This record gives sequence, structure tokens and C-alpha cells, in this order.
Amino acid sequence: MSILNADLHCHSVVSDGTLTPEVLAQRAKDLGVELWALTDHDEVGGQHRAAAAARALSLPYLTGTEISVSFANKTVHIVGLGFDADNPQLVQGLRATRGGRDVRAQEMADQLAMVGIPGSFEGALKYAGNPELISRTHFARFLVETGVCKDTPEVFRKYLTEGKPGFVPHRWATLSNAVRWITQAGGVAVIAHPARYGFTANEEFALFSEFKAHGGTAVEVVTGSHSSADAVTYADMAREFQLAASRGSDFHSPDESHTDLGQLPWLPGDLQPVWELLSDRIQ
Ligand code: AMP
Ligand code: MN
Ligand code: MN
Ligand code: MN
Repeated sequence: MSILNADLHCHSVVSDGTLTPEVLAQRAKDLGVELWALTDHDEVGGQHRAAAAARALSLPYLTGTEISVSFANKTVHIVGLGFDADNPQLVQGLRATRGGRDVRAQEMADQLAMVGIPGSFEGALKYAGNPELISRTHFARFLVETGVCKDTPEVFRKYLTEGKPGFVPHRWATLSNAVRWITQAGGVAVIAHPARYGFTANEEFALFSEFKAHGGTAVEVVTGSHSSADAVTYADMAREFQLAASRGSDFHSPDESHTDLGQLPWLPGDLQPVWELLSDRIQ
């Protein structure tokens, strides 16, 4: 086992979390996290705040983001860790990735209006701490607030997912661009929560192979989105593809997330922890 309470995946109000970077830093510290990264979707706008808050608490910090990628007609998430958050190519690439979210959200709201749920664009926007980063999570909060659904899992079962009202297919970044933006900014690219994608074995093999070919070097093995069986499966994938392993809660909100910061199983001891690739990037 790798005994370091690293939590290298979570979200703040800069994307679809409900806590500020400062409150998250304090929560991570209080819950025993020993190495932390804030990984907002398609954004690095919270990085300086998170790093400063972590420094004030003597909490070791890695920069982070989670990039939305289109691959094999699905959305895949690539986490970046330990990059220079001011790198112009990375900042510009993320800005371009965020760019289509507003139009997409309007289309989601139009679809929901057609099934009798009016006002969801404004309703979702109210929850978005960052107006450039309106996400399905913000729509989910509106649908819970208005009593359409009892909680966010029910929202994603009935709405906003493929084949359901409010799902709008979207073209995100390419896998090669996402990996390149991260690596040329000095960071390490990580396949986020691979069990979530529902890929066939062939599609998954293609994802891992292409990710490696583009210079990706790690995969999340232990995450709040994985069961213990998933962790075993993706520990094997890390071995097969010779990838380092990452660990992160994917915490969004005390009210919504079942895994809190740092409250995760350890990484299997034979895998190389991703932070060993980043020892000179820890702040
Ligand atoms: P978007 O980037 O706008 O497509 O929104 C994706 C976000 O929706 C994810 O990062 C999660 O926070 C949330 N999400 C996706 N699927 C689910 C689900 N089944 N249950 C709860 N939250 C989900
Ligand atoms: Mn999210
Ligand atoms: Mn994700
Ligand atoms: Mn996430």
C-alpha cells in the first residue's frame, strides 16, 4: 500500500463544486489530507487561491484541472496535475474548451422546457459560481430545488444523460490536445475515473493506448467514482499499460458527494503513485 493521504481530484465554485478553494483547503486539512489538488472542470481560475490557501495551512499542493474530452462518441475526463497554471497554451486551450458551454446550456434548457420544465437556464446559472462554466451539475441543483427530482442521482437517471430530455451532445477537446496542453505546461496527464465511461473492451483499449501514445502517464485507480472492484480492475490496467496511479475523491459538495476529501482506500503498494512523478512540482 502507498500510505500517503493524497486527494488529487475535487471541485470548487470555480466549476461545479459548492465550496470555495479556501474552504476546501481547510476541509482537506481537517480531514487529514497530506497532499491536495483542486481539479476544476476546464478551468485553472482557482489555482492561485487554492495554492495560497494550502500554503497558509502547510498543506502540500499540486496544481490541477479536469479536462472534458470527446473520445469514441463519449465524454472522457483527463485530469492534469503539477503544471504551470499560467501556461498560455494551457489557459487558452481550457478557454476554448469552456467556450461552447453557454450555447449547450441554452439548448439543454430548450429541451427541458419542451418537457414542461421552464426557466432552467436562469435557474442553473444562479448556481454557477463561474458563468463560463455552466454544467449539468448546476441544472441538477435547479431540478432538485424545484422539486422535479429528489436528488442529483435521480436527475441524471431521468434527465441530462444520453437518450433523456436535456441531453445535448457536445464536442469537447480532443484527447491529444488535452494531454498536450497538460504535458507541455510541465504537468502529468491522468485518465479520470475510467470505470464511469461504459466503454467496450476495445474502446477502452483504444483510450489507454492512444492516451499513452500522446504522452499520458497515469490513471485514477482509487476514486470516489470507483467501487472496490473497479479499483482492482484499473490497478490491473495500470500494470498492463505501465501507468502511474492516482487517488482522488472527486468531492463536489457536502450535500451531494458520498466520498469526502481524503476518505478513500489506499493505492495498491506495487503501483507507482503519480505524485512520485511530480515531487519537484509540489508547492
Ligand atoms: P458537464 O461537464 O456539464 O457535462 O457535467 C458533468 C458533471 O455532471 C460531472 O462532472 C459530475 O459532477 C456531474 N455528473 C455526471 N453524471 C452524474 C451522475 N450520474 N450523478 C451525479 N452527478 C453526475
Ligand atoms: Mn463535476
Ligand atoms: Mn469527471
Ligand atoms: Mn471531477
